[in-house]
Amino acid sequence: MIDEDNDSGQDVSIGQEFLCAQKPLSLPGFSPNYLFSPASRKLVGTARRRNRLSSDVVLMRKCRYYPLSMIILILAVLAAIPAANASERESYSGPTTDQDREVLFQVSTIDALLLAVYDGILPVGELKERGDFGIGTFDKLEGEMVVVDGVCYQVRIDGVAYIVPDEVTTPFATVTFFDPDETVLVEKAGNMTELGEILEASFPSENVFYAIRINGTFPYVKTRSVPAQEEPYPLLVDAVANQTVFEFEDASGTVVGFWSPEFVDGINVPGYHLHFITDDRKAGGHILDLQVEGTLVELDLTPSIFMALPTEGDFFNVDLTGDLSADLEKVEK
Ligand SMILES: [Zn+2]
Repeated sequence: MIDEDNDSGQDVSIGQEFLCAQKPLSLPGFSPNYLFSPASRKLVGTARRRNRLSSDVVLMRKCRYYPLSMIILILAVLAAIPAANASERESYSGPTTDQDREVLFQVSTIDALLLAVYDGILPVGELKERGDFGIGTFDKLEGEMVVVDGVCYQVRIDGVAYIVPDEVTTPFATVTFFDPDETVLVEKAGNMTELGEILEASFPSENVFYAIRINGTFPYVKTRSVPAQEEPYPLLVDAVANQTVFEFEDASGTVVGFWSPEFVDGINVPGYHLHFITDDRKAGGHILDLQVEGTLVELDLTPSIFMALPTEGDFFNVDLTGDLSADLEKVEK
């Protein structure tokens, strides 16, 4: 039995019944490999998808002749899969190809944090599987997170950086695997604004993310940390009113953070969000200001984002429709 031609010109009649039975288990055009391919691989993904779609037409025609009882059985099995999973905690898989090193993995949204959704949802142990580099905070908003070289530190309000046990959870964090694509020599930047302008001038695009790492000795760094909050949680803008500020002079250490495009407004922090940790990994915090002199800045262009949203708790009912950019401005600086 020979079927009509598909785009690839292949005879698709072989094993037709088997293909009909298998078909509902595949999602045409949907694979992590396709969705998260860099631009150079998109053509491959598109071609594959077109081929699959044309095969679908042929298969749908064939499936009309397939026994109705078998189709009902397949649908029943598929319906049972989500029901079986629903009883377990939702898990966040994300892309699983080799491109996952180029994915920004984010827990919750910045607006949820601004609106006091502080209960941790993801253990640090699982966060570190999604990136060896990043920033965030901890359950109850306790302290500032710095993930560097695969180790997660918590800078508490005593200014000390502690290594975090894997079971401690985070309500908001952003991590990736740091593989620098570009380095920028910054001769002199007197403050965060000047540093920001120098780096932005080197960005090939303002529509992707950049992970930023700066190893060096900084003439001045000003950081802060925030204490654990108690329920009912105050808004972030009120919680940071109790922040503790630290100042470092001629401090050797590492700046860890991100620059995000303007379009992430509400999801993450547009522009710069940087944390600091000293070379001895004993102190640091969320950077409020810094000076840079004769230091190389490493940039990791990151073209994908994966969001892990809370599946229970305050996040489900918080109203995230408002514009909180004015609050964010106060909290970050
Ligand atoms: Zn921060």
